[in-house]
Amino acid sequence: TEAWGPDDDKPRRFAGPVKVRVPAKINLHLGVGPVRPDGFHELNTVYHAISLFDELTARPGDTLTLTMEGEGTGELELDESNLIIRAARALAQKARVPAHARLHLRKTIPLAGGLAGGSADAAATLLACDLLWGTGYGKDELAEIGAELGSDIPFLLQGGTALGTGHGEAVSPILARPTTWHWVVAIAEGGLSTPEVYRELDRMRESTWSPEPLESPGQLMAALRQRRPEVLGAALANDLQPAALSLRPALAEVLKAGYEAGALAGIVSGSGPTCVFLTSDAAHAEKVAAGLRDSGVCRDAVAARGPMPGARAV
Ligand code: ATP
Repeated sequence: TEAWGPDDDKPRRFAGPVKVRVPAKINLHLGVGPVRPDGFHELNTVYHAISLFDELTARPGDTLTLTMEGEGTGELELDESNLIIRAARALAQKARVPAHARLHLRKTIPLAGGLAGGSADAAATLLACDLLWGTGYGKDELAEIGAELGSDIPFLLQGGTALGTGHGEAVSPILARPTTWHWVVAIAEGGLSTPEVYRELDRMRESTWSPEPLESPGQLMAALRQRRPEVLGAALANDLQPAALSLRPALAEVLKAGYEAGALAGIVSGSGPTCVFLTSDAAHAEKVAAGLRDSGVCRDAVAARGPMPGARAV
């Protein structure tokens, strides 16, 4: 369905639908520093892309439209506030092309779940529209456009396991021997607002906390190299977890239920309320997921693998 043949010099542009699959992210380590003058918190994080995917399809159109199905349908606004529309407009403006596309989202990543679903969709949109419009930007240029819209977007274009610094937008891949980790994702009823969780952390820190320079996550990096799930489990860390637990005390029950179901370790994912559990293999993950579902403490629990590639045309 290419508009031009492969011998042509022009960037490859697609006349037909472009479908992009994008993973959710979890943070194996999330170190949160003080608020910077620009309002962002300084972060030191290890991102990890897992096999829970959204899918964005872009088709040629006369205007810019967005439709959706799946998680959050009827709840998520599909207007100019949606990160998908904002990403498409940002790319069109940068490339000086009309922002014309019919976009359709198939959503599996829960809304406001701490899995960066919105950023994932924005990353998928940048790639899909780049291919549809033949704007021919590389991953780095798309990441630059994405960083203006959301801190997690550069990582979701890249995927894998990566160190994130700055406010999360500066990513560098962590090179380790290929290992597949087996996770269980416990999906909560209802979301948590990321800015509110950060505000709660600042409030909790007010009296007791004196900012120190963020340390790089050495223990976690060493655990990744060792490739032993029980070692990685012991190294998982999330500075936002106490704040998420303070706003949603019931999450303690979810973490407890995961351990009771046999998980090696459990942690709140990013700003929550999703909790993720590390297991030793695929069969163990299925068992823990079933245990969590039976416990009734979460809306759903699913097994997922990581690391996964970032946004990709399929
Ligand atoms: P993060 O950790 O990046 O804040 P999250 O997983 O907690 O992400 P998201 O689902 O990414 O939460 O988004 C949070 C809010 O962003 C939503 O409640 C919604 O108001 C807004 N939003 C805008 N566009 C989207 C989108 N395409 N998908 C999801 N949320 C979106």
